[in-house]
Amino acid sequence: ERMAAKYERVLLKLSGEAFSGGQGLGVDPDTVSAIARQIAEVARAGVQVAVVVGGGNYFRGAQLSERGMDRSRADYMGMLATVMNCLALQDFLEKQGVETRVQTAITMGQVAEPYIPRRAIRHLEKGRVVIFGAGLGAPFFSTDTCAAQRALEIGAQVLLKATRVDGVYDSDPRTNPDAVKFDWLDYNEVLQRGLKVADATAISLCMDNDLPIVVFDLLAEGNIARAVRGEKIGTLVSR
Ligand code: UDP
Repeated sequence: ERMAAKYERVLLKLSGEAFSGGQGLGVDPDTVSAIARQIAEVARAGVQVAVVVGGGNYFRGAQLSERGMDRSRADYMGMLATVMNCLALQDFLEKQGVETRVQTAITMGQVAEPYIPRRAIRHLEKGRVVIFGAGLGAPFFSTDTCAAQRALEIGAQVLLKATRVDGVYDSDPRTNPDAVKFDWLDYNEVLQRGLKVADATAISLCMDNDLPIVVFDLLAEGNIARAVRGEKIGTLVSR
């Protein structure tokens, strides 16, 4: 089955929170299975999919350091947390019959391949979904920044940021019923208004390299396919 895809190679960013299925902590197998079904749908249609997975359902370095932990050590805990999510996603993708490889920025040979960009690209060309874990392998970064960097390095045409809201709003739609959703934003507006698309490091990296970002609701079935087809869902951040 062919799909009229707008993009041939995409980088999908999944937050750790998405894996917990609203529970906050840990991995909810039904939720990860549903995410895997959506990814499998686009991978089977011939789209090259790389994924960066967050770790916020276990640890966020900044939060642990606010409570007294050393920031770098806490960030390494966060990076290790992402790897658990990678393995969960890999498992459910393989149950869908999709070949996958996990590559981590911190070497752990028993668990995953090391991050080797050219090999990642070969996997993608062979139709395998590549899942990147352990962020950039360096503290003081986020997995959003990692997603932007990996997208650029492997030549993805878009960063698809899947979240739990259906786009970017001028205020929090969960608390303000009058919140207005943006269909489109330019990078500077995101930075100047402090809109919660991603951290400033990630946004600047996308801006400097002209990488568009689509922010959309992951939990609506079929949304990853819609984003890949270039349908107007969520919010597009571009030049
Ligand atoms: N992290 C890091 N360097 C990176 C990526 C992640 O230090 O390159 C750490 C950081 O502590 C972060 C945690 O890993 O809080 C989990 O990632 P993130 O908060 O981005 O996950 P998400 O919010 O997407 O679930």
